[in-house]
Amino acid sequence: MKLITGLHHVTAITGDTQENIDFYTGVLGLRLVKTTVNFDYSDVYHFYFGDEFGTPGTIMTTFPYGKGLVNGRHGKGMLNTTAFSISMDALDYWMNRLNQFNIPFKQPQQRLSGEVFIYLEDFDGLGLELVFNDKDERTGYNNHFIPKDFAIKGIHHVEIWLNAYERTAALLTTQMDHQLIAESSDRFRYAVEDAPGKYVDLVCTPNALKGLAGRGTVHHVAFATPDAQTQLEMMEKLNTFGLEHTEVKDRKYFTSVYFKEPGGVLFEIATSGPGFDVDEELASLGEHLNLPQQFEEKREHLVEVLPKFNYPTEKYR
Ligand code: ZN
Repeated sequence: MKLITGLHHVTAITGDTQENIDFYTGVLGLRLVKTTVNFDYSDVYHFYFGDEFGTPGTIMTTFPYGKGLVNGRHGKGMLNTTAFSISMDALDYWMNRLNQFNIPFKQPQQRLSGEVFIYLEDFDGLGLELVFNDKDERTGYNNHFIPKDFAIKGIHHVEIWLNAYERTAALLTTQMDHQLIAESSDRFRYAVEDAPGKYVDLVCTPNALKGLAGRGTVHHVAFATPDAQTQLEMMEKLNTFGLEHTEVKDRKYFTSVYFKEPGGVLFEIATSGPGFDVDEELASLGEHLNLPQQFEEKREHLVEVLPKFNYPTEKYR
């Protein structure tokens, strides 16, 4: 049995709260599946965006620290692009949609076995792609304003820039159940199986500057493991590989272990369950502030310091 089943989520450092909600639920049409706080710094929101259920492999999460936060810099030792998967038929629709809302993007390009992609950035400069392909069996979130066959189906891949890819590749292939499935020039694609939502692209960029954390950069990427037992087995494998990791942390919707991969990117191993409906109904996910038990006594303070925002946002519908 595989200990890693694919990507779980990507977590980014972002700026303004309303812009963050607008971009991911409005422009991109994802579902806000959880409104909570950063469990390690509770005065900041933690938003989870994904498909209807917040299925692992569809989830983008953000810590919106506010507009005053200093900008980060894309570069080496960083996950610079999170790519979302969309049906091939939807390319024209999405270019029109981005134009309609004045979201700049690069013209379509092709890579590897013919996947077509456009690069864009969110309002904070976070690197994103829309990858148009016919390989994705997943159903996107039906938000009732983007035609449901054109919706984002989930994450397609993540792109990590490295000085050299070999040590990260060794971690993925010897300890984390990945295989090299495609490559072209300086790009090496690894996956636990050949399906969108499971791809990790390592790109060699020896001439790039080092990435700097800040607004518009990724904080970490999480890989999915089935349960607490496989998570424990994964920790033993990290020990064998000589990688230091945290203890298991309770994130309420899953449990997590964190470690730095050899190229400098923070990786997380997150359990697939229990999921986002443990503290609210599926029909109203994300609509109210949900706090873990340890922060309930601070609720009044948090409601006061956390910025108010409108959801759903009408502007991008
Ligand atoms: Zn995480």
